[in-house]
Parts: sequence; structure tokens; C-alpha cells
Amino acid sequence: MKAQIESLVEYIQYLKELGYDGFPLPSQPDHKYDAVLNVNDDDKKLSMENIRLAVSECHKCILAKTRTHPVAGEGDYNAVLMFIGEAPGYDEDQQGKPFVGRAGKLLTDIIKAMGMTREEVFIANVIKCRPPDNRAPMDNEITACVPYLFNQIDIIKPKVIVTLGRYSTTAILGFREQIKISELRGRFFGYKGIKVMPTYHPAYLLRNEKDKKLVWNDMKLVLQELGKAIPTNKAR
Ligand code: URA
Ligand code: SF4
Repeated sequence: MKAQIESLVEYIQYLKELGYDGFPLPSQPDHKYDAVLNVNDDDKKLSMENIRLAVSECHKCILAKTRTHPVAGEGDYNAVLMFIGEAPGYDEDQQGKPFVGRAGKLLTDIIKAMGMTREEVFIANVIKCRPPDNRAPMDNEITACVPYLFNQIDIIKPKVIVTLGRYSTTAILGFREQIKISELRGRFFGYKGIKVMPTYHPAYLLRNEKDKKLVWNDMKLVLQELGKAIPTNKAR
């Protein structure tokens, strides 16, 4: 006991020499800062709502004339993972939700195979309104619409973005020439410090089943980057 007291006195002496006049306290959580974080979270939610509202009233391009419902995107505004497609098709235009048709079902299966849910990621498109007869989006439509997507990314700040197909890969990575997904997929690119994985669009996979395994390889890299386990019971 005496030895312990002596060593405690020695310790206090040592602390005094260091300039402390008491025991150093463990650092306390700063609850004022928590409040600020909560405000931020509300701000994020509000900003996402504002984008949805702006899209719902948008007439910046000709697609406003033929759409049934604009499709702003859906999911968690705090998601670590974002999927970006091209533009709404028939089913998406009818329902106002992204990726709900046949290609959407495949994307949903891919997300499930990754051990995740649609609700915990964020799914959006470069173009928010359906091009008539699913024609390819035109450059002036992309230019008009893509700021909504950039704003969504700035708010969500995901760790990883998966660009599905040529249009979203070009929009995010800024390539000017014709690109080939086959040459870009399988490795990460960067956008504002976010890792970007280009991969095949699910509509392409419906026509080219054999390439599903390549997309699964890409998704495994994405899971690794997110520090998530790779599920082994994948059906595909
Ligand atoms: N294809 C896309 O690129 N986006 C959708 O939302 C649906 C199909
Ligand atoms: Fe606006 Fe985009 Fe719809 Fe064009 S496609 S009207 S830019 S929301």
C-alpha cells in the first residue's frame, strides 16, 4: 500500500512538472457539436427535398413535355453507396421511381446479392424525365439535367459511386470521346474524392447474361472498398 501511495505521489509530482494541476480527464463528448451534426442531417434532408421539388416542377428541357412523372431518385440521403443509371424508362415514368422495370429488378437483385437493400443505397439517373420511346438522351438534355445529379452527390457524399453504363460514366467522369465500359470497368476512378466504379448497365446484362459475372467482380471490389463482407451465397 505504502509503495502504491508513493508511486501515486510521484505520478502527481510528474504531472505537476508537466504543467497539470490535477489528473487529466478523459475527453468529454461535446454535445453542442452533436446538435450541429443533427442540424446538418436536417439540412441534408431538406436539400434533398428541394431537389425533388425542383425536378417535379422542372421545364429546363423538352422532356418535360412528354414525361408522366419525373424520377428524381430514391434511397438513403446518408448512403455510402450510390448507383447511377441513364434515364427513366416506361415503368419508371409511370411510377416516378428509378429502376423499377425489368432492368430495375436485376439491379435490385445485384444490390441484394451484395447483402444490401435498395433503401440503404441511393439510386438516381443522369436524366430525370423519360426520353420518348426510350431514345438516347441528347447532349442538351444532359447539360440541362446533370446539375441535379451533381447536387445529389454533393449532399449524399457517398464513399463509392457505381456508374451503370456509358451515359452515367461519361457524365460523372467527364470523358469526351466515346467510351467502352469493357475497357473502364473493374477499377476505380475518382470524382471529388469519391471512388467511382464504372460497370455494365443492367439493361445490357439482360441481353448479355455472360457478363453478369464481370459485374459481380466489380461489385466485390465495391464491397471491399466499403469494408463490407462479400456474401458467399450468391445465386448468380
Ligand atoms: N434504366 C435506367 O438507366 N434508369 C432507370 O431508372 C431505369 C432503367
Ligand atoms: Fe428538367 Fe431534367 Fe426533366 Fe429536362 S429531364 S425537364 S432538365 S428534370
